[in-house]
Amino acid sequence: MADASLMVWIDQDLCTGDGICEEIAPEVFEARDDGLWVVKETAANFGADIIFDGNQGPDNAKGVARVPDADTDDVVEAATECPGECIMIEPFEEATFAARGV
Ligand code: SF4
Repeated sequence: MADASLMVWIDQDLCTGDGICEEIAPEVFEARDDGLWVVKETAANFGADIIFDGNQGPDNAKGVARVPDADTDDVVEAATECPGECIMIEPFEEATFAARGV
């Protein structure tokens, strides 16, 4: 299980759909069928593949995913480069994930 100091979510209303985030941090960002990008957690990092697209994965808590510490720099870079300025990074809060039973 990866350590996580940060969590991340995308404000879908602002996403331009260019995919820069996934190019920089493919472990954390993924394209959705409608052309917007969403956050995800992978089994390699957190024991289960979860895409926070509101369909396959839970869309609660704003669709927040944990950021593996090894990907922190890439996620921060993605947020910096994101043309929609819609990648939201917050300090990890255990309470957000306790409701999910993780
Ligand atoms: S970089 Fe930002 S605007 Fe571009 S697809 Fe990712 S979240 Fe959307």
